[in-house]
Amino acid sequence: MNEKTLELLRLDKKHIWHPFTQMADWMAGEQIIIDRAEGFYLIDTDGNRYIDGISSLWCNVHGHCVPEIDDAVKSQLGKIAHSTLLGLAQTKSIELAGKLIKIVPSNLSRVFYSDSGATAVEIALKIAYQYFYNRGVKRYKFIALGQSYHGDTIGSVSVGGMELFHSIFRPMLFETYFVPPPHPYRFAGSPAECMNHSLNVMEDLLKKHGGNIAAVIIEPLVQGAAGMIVHPCGFLKAVRELTRKHNVLLICDEVATGFGRTGKMFACEHEKVEPDIMCLAKGITAGYLPLAVTLTTEEIFNAFLGRIDEFKTFYHGHTYTGNALACAAAIASLELFEKNKIIETLSPKAALIEKYLQKISGLPFVGDVRRCGLTAGIELVEDKAAKRSFPYGRQIGAKICRAMRHKGLMMRPLGDVIVIMPPVAIDLPLLERLLDIILETLENDLKKIEI
Ligand SMILES: *Cc1c(COP(=O)(O)O)cnc(C)c1O
Repeated sequence: MNEKTLELLRLDKKHIWHPFTQMADWMAGEQIIIDRAEGFYLIDTDGNRYIDGISSLWCNVHGHCVPEIDDAVKSQLGKIAHSTLLGLAQTKSIELAGKLIKIVPSNLSRVFYSDSGATAVEIALKIAYQYFYNRGVKRYKFIALGQSYHGDTIGSVSVGGMELFHSIFRPMLFETYFVPPPHPYRFAGSPAECMNHSLNVMEDLLKKHGGNIAAVIIEPLVQGAAGMIVHPCGFLKAVRELTRKHNVLLICDEVATGFGRTGKMFACEHEKVEPDIMCLAKGITAGYLPLAVTLTTEEIFNAFLGRIDEFKTFYHGHTYTGNALACAAAIASLELFEKNKIIETLSPKAALIEKYLQKISGLPFVGDVRRCGLTAGIELVEDKAAKRSFPYGRQIGAKICRAMRHKGLMMRPLGDVIVIMPPVAIDLPLLERLLDIILETLENDLKKIEI
C-alpha cells in the first residue's frame, strides 16, 4: 500500500462511520479505498482493479464514467445544478417525468420526486394514507411481506420485515401486518403450495382488517435484501387481484428491481401488473446521483385536489427534490437504454448466469441458487440436506466475498447469500469472467475457510 492510501485509511478509520458495518471489525481490518473507475471496473488508490459485481450496491447500470452520462451532467452544470420544485418548475424534472411516464405501467401518470429509495417509500405510504383520509376514510395500516426491505427511515422500517435490521427499532415503529414471504426453499411443500399459503394469510388479513388497511406494499418478484428471495410465478398477479377485490392500494417497491434487473424494464411487466403506486430509485440515474420517484395514478392524484382551506394538499417535500443534475443523468441513462437496446440484450446474459448457477448448485455447502433476470443469489449452508445455515458469527458469506475481491471481483453478500448483481449493460465476456471467479472461489476457497 502506498503512503497516500495509508494516510487516507488512517483518516477513514478515525472519522468515518460506515453504514451497515460493524465498525470494530472495520477499524481492525484491512481495507481498500476506491478512487476511480473505468467502465465496469472499480480502481483503488493503489491502482488495483475490481469488476463491479454488485453494481456499486445495485444502482450502476451502464458502467462508470460513461461518456454520454458524463456529458449530460457536465452540460447541465453549465446551466444550473439545482433549484427547488416547491411551487416552482424546472426543465430537467419535466423532461424526465415525460420520459418515465412513457415506460412505466400505463395507469401511472404522476411523478413525485425525492432522493432515495427510503424516501420514495415514505412518500408512497403517506400518499396511500392521505388518499383515504382526503376521501373521509381513516385507514392507517399496511400489509407487507415478512423479510421485506423498503429502506431505513422509520416509516420504511415499519413496513420492513428483516428481523436482523429492524427488530431493535420495533418499539419506535407503527404496527404493520406481515404475511410470510413465498420462499420455496424454506417451505415444506411445492412452490404452488408455498405461494397459496402466503396468499391465504394475506386474504385472511384483508377480510379481517380490510377496512383499516390503506395498502399492501411489496417488492415485486424478488425480495432483494432478504437474500434474493424469488417469488413463484403468478404471486404478484394474485396479490394485485386480492388488493382490487378488497379495495386496498397496491404499492410496488421497484427500487431494486427497476431498470432492467429482472430482464424487463420493470418487474411488474412480467405479470402485466399495474400497481396504484410505484417507487423507483437505485438504477434511475444509472448509479450516478441520488434521485427517486414515487409514481401514482391520476385517481390518487385527484383525491388531493381542492380549495386550499380544504387541507387536501400533500404537505411533503425534500430540499433536493427533483435535482436537475440527477434528472439530467437519468435522462441520459434512459436514452442509452434505447440507443444500446439494453433490454433486448439481457436474455443471453441471464442464460449465462443460469448456466453457471446450475454448476454451482451441485457444489458442497450450496443450499440453493435462485435467479430472476440478471439478479441472482447463492445461499451457502452448513448442512445441505437439512438446509441448516451457518452460525451468523462465522461470516462465511463475507469471507467468501473477501476471497473473490483478492481475485479482482468486488462483491457484497447478504449474510451467507452471495449476490450476483452486475451492471445490466455488462458485456458477455466480462460477465463470464465474473462468473468464473465466483465458481472457482466456491469450488476451492469455501473448503479452506475454517470448514
Ligand atoms: C435499496 C432499497 C431501498 C432503499 O433505497 P435507498 O436509496 O438505499 O434508501 C428500498 N427498497 C428496496 C426494495 C431496496 O432494495
